[in-house]
Amino acid sequence: MATLAATGIRRLVLLGAGHVHVHVLQALARSRRADVNVTLVAPQPHLLYSGMVPGYVAGHYTLDECRVDLRPLIDASGVRYVPGLCSGMNAALHSVRVALPDGEAVALPYDVLSVDTGGVADREALEAAMPGARDNAMFVRPMDGFAQLWPQLVALSQTRALSIALIGAGAAGVELAMAVRHRLPHCTVTLVTGGPAPLSGYPLKVQQRAMRALKERRVTVLSLACTGISPGQVLLEGGTSLACDAPIIATGTQAPAWLRGSGLALDAAGFISTNPFLQSTSHANVYAAGDVATRVDVQHPRSGVYAVRAGPALDYNLRAALAEAPPRAWQPPRAALSLLACGNRSAIASWGAWSAQGAWVWRWKDWIDRRFVRGLSIGQ
Ligand SMILES: Cc1cc2nc3c(=O)[nH]c(=O)nc-3n(C[C@H](O)[C@H](O)[C@H](O)COP(=O)(O)OP(=O)(O)OC[C@H]3O[C@@H](n4cnc5c(N)ncnc54)[C@H](O)[C@@H]3O)c2cc1C
Repeated sequence: MATLAATGIRRLVLLGAGHVHVHVLQALARSRRADVNVTLVAPQPHLLYSGMVPGYVAGHYTLDECRVDLRPLIDASGVRYVPGLCSGMNAALHSVRVALPDGEAVALPYDVLSVDTGGVADREALEAAMPGARDNAMFVRPMDGFAQLWPQLVALSQTRALSIALIGAGAAGVELAMAVRHRLPHCTVTLVTGGPAPLSGYPLKVQQRAMRALKERRVTVLSLACTGISPGQVLLEGGTSLACDAPIIATGTQAPAWLRGSGLALDAAGFISTNPFLQSTSHANVYAAGDVATRVDVQHPRSGVYAVRAGPALDYNLRAALAEAPPRAWQPPRAALSLLACGNRSAIASWGAWSAQGAWVWRWKDWIDRRFVRGLSIGQ
């Protein structure tokens, strides 16, 4: 393997073009060391901004408005782009395996690796929990796939009124249930929570606001676990079932399977364990941030807000690693602003125990989201 000593060139590999790496790309476009080769591996050269996906489903945005084309940023930063998916890794050998679109696989060696591939909907785990899910349900993740399928469901709903169920009542499930209701008012929409109240991780006041909003929009809330999915039916705990044309799985994210066997230290759920420097606790030349990583020293939610906030720290520490300089610790904020879209251009805001709701919150969210996307869209 070529090393710094042999060539003087160091290799930085960025896995995933998620909410953290877009910041790293932006910073690389501003300045990059000449003695560093940077490679980006991601299935598509764009970022689908998740905060706007419920607005896309509701019909407020086109897909292009929610997507940042990263090609201008990739070109400006001099990064080599490899379209593909990381399918394996050997941390001891400093190498990742990349599955290319043509079915071939290549090994990419690195001196420093940064992982921002997000969480996944683990089809095998979900199939075990809800037999039939793999064949009969739509999955919100990967979001690109879901966004491509959504217009087909809209078209189908023009032929007959559908019964649609969102499985999972975290922020994504709640927002999507209200977005679907807004876009398809002639269809029935059910939110299957798995047991707890919708938004169970949020303060009680926010849960109450969400419950009221769901009720006003005639979204039926079933506080039951989904135990299986068959054609036309969602099976529920206790032996009951729900007639359903389109079950949409929006449960929380799982760790990618390719991390198992990588040699990296993982947490109990299989996510990469990282220290305050966003560095693997087992391999000092591997960094990870966003939903794929778990900080061992401090807990914070897996969310886009935290992923975006980690961007500058990850960029700093990757540069430090390449310069063999000391890294800097990143302290995640104790609380972050949450803005939940309620379908009809209104939204619920919360920050710790504070919350508010209304059309003005939606306008605020819309302004923040559009500004984020615009800020990354150079030359477009
Ligand atoms: C409908 C919905 C709405 C949401 N709304 C919000 C919100 O309003 N606010 C908020 O804070 N959070 C929100 N979230 C959560 C948010 O989407 C995630 O927390 C956020 O995307 C995490 O960012 P990330 O950078 O870790 O990963 P991602 O944004 O998921 O990016 C991962 C990247 O890695 C690529 N990738 C994946 N696998 C591989 C692989 N094997 N090899 C190479 N590349 C790979 C992907 O294509 C993508 O480019 C929402 C989630 C959903 C589903």
